[in-house]
Amino acid sequence: MRLIDGRAIAKAIAAEVTEAVSELRSAGTVPALAVVLPAEDEAARWYVRSIQRQAAKVGIDCVVHDLAGTGAGAVRDRLSELSADPAVHGIICQTPLPQGISLEVAAASIGPAKDVDGANPVSLGKLAAGLPSFAPATAAAVLEILRRERVPLSGTRAVVVGRSVVVGKPAALLLLAENATVTICHSRTKNLAGVCAEADVLVAAVGRAGLIGAGYIKPGAVVIDVGTNPTPDGGLAGDVDAEAVGASGAAGALTPVPGGVGPVTTMLLMRHTVEAAGGGMLAG
Ligand code: NAP
Repeated sequence: MRLIDGRAIAKAIAAEVTEAVSELRSAGTVPALAVVLPAEDEAARWYVRSIQRQAAKVGIDCVVHDLAGTGAGAVRDRLSELSADPAVHGIICQTPLPQGISLEVAAASIGPAKDVDGANPVSLGKLAAGLPSFAPATAAAVLEILRRERVPLSGTRAVVVGRSVVVGKPAALLLLAENATVTICHSRTKNLAGVCAEADVLVAAVGRAGLIGAGYIKPGAVVIDVGTNPTPDGGLAGDVDAEAVGASGAAGALTPVPGGVGPVTTMLLMRHTVEAAGGGMLAG
């Protein structure tokens, strides 16, 4: 079984994004990403720092709007202000949110043209309709990895486990757009192992460490593990039981956790920001 190197893929995208940023800067546009931190949360702060690091690497101006302790109205107002600010090209709103504002309301306050993490329901609607929009970065990362690894998708069986609006559903829509025959599984799916074992491409986006065992894998399948589950020792585990799947020799390729989908996701937020700033579609 081949382990897919997400960090190497992120590095390749970073090189392309850096070049596009420098062209934009030469033309007088500084690509700018605004990250709203609506409430105090250690994990969110950690993730925001990692976004800042990646932005700095590629030359994107990243401003964090720390609104912890301010409340729902301030979060909504700031997202609307940023959406109207011509100097801001991309906007991300972290979770958790303070009381009084739902995820849907916060996401709907982000202008779709700047919605670089595809959070606004309008973005998902456009994705479903096959119209240009930003897909949620994690779902886009799944497809980016498959594309860069030259995994054929047209006519193949793809199974996505998980149907959240941030990962499972958009990943399934993106696979469908590539002409895969897509099945979406969830907590009520019967015979999950049997359905997964039919997949040429299996995407696990569940949030249950080690749920996908060796018996879930069709021989030669490409397995993308989106799960990030904290382990007692402070590490991260995927939804795939990588040890058992690796030992069985069934899978053709697997993304590790960490070092698989995560780094590609963050770098795609940068690419989306450059695209929003007028850098054109950089997928290539
Ligand atoms: P979520 O909103 O909790 O959705 C989980 C999905 O898994 C739901 O559709 C749920 O089904 C399904 N599910 C739960 N238990 C199941 C089971 N036993 N069998 C089959 N399906 C089951 O989670 P999410 O936000 O999509 O995130 C999924 C995972 O991806 C998490 O580990 C998260 O940390 C990770 N993640 C990683 C990145 C990254 O960049 N690497 C980004 C975002 C998320 P129902 O709909 O029926 O409840």
